[in-house]
Amino acid sequence: TYVVTENCIKCKYTDCVDVCPVDCFYEGPNFLVIHPDECIDCGLCEPECPADAIFSEDDLPKDQLAFVDLNAELAEVW
Ligand code: SF4
Repeated sequence: TYVVTENCIKCKYTDCVDVCPVDCFYEGPNFLVIHPDECIDCGLCEPECPADAIFSEDDLPKDQLAFVDLNAELAEVW
């Protein structure tokens, strides 16, 4: 699955949402998140993000690991 990370916080762009074929982006308190069960791993959103905030879970920088759980939690709550 793909994960939205720290650089998304307060980002105003929604290019990622526009390209996602399954509409699995959800709004968190001040950043977007990806629903891990709905993401089909197509990878289309990653190059579209102007803030470079989207990573495949497999390529996630170590200091962004907490965002795996944050995406999952916030996608269900919001
Ligand atoms: Fe949507 Fe594809 Fe990005 Fe997953 S990888 S969030 S399905 S655009």
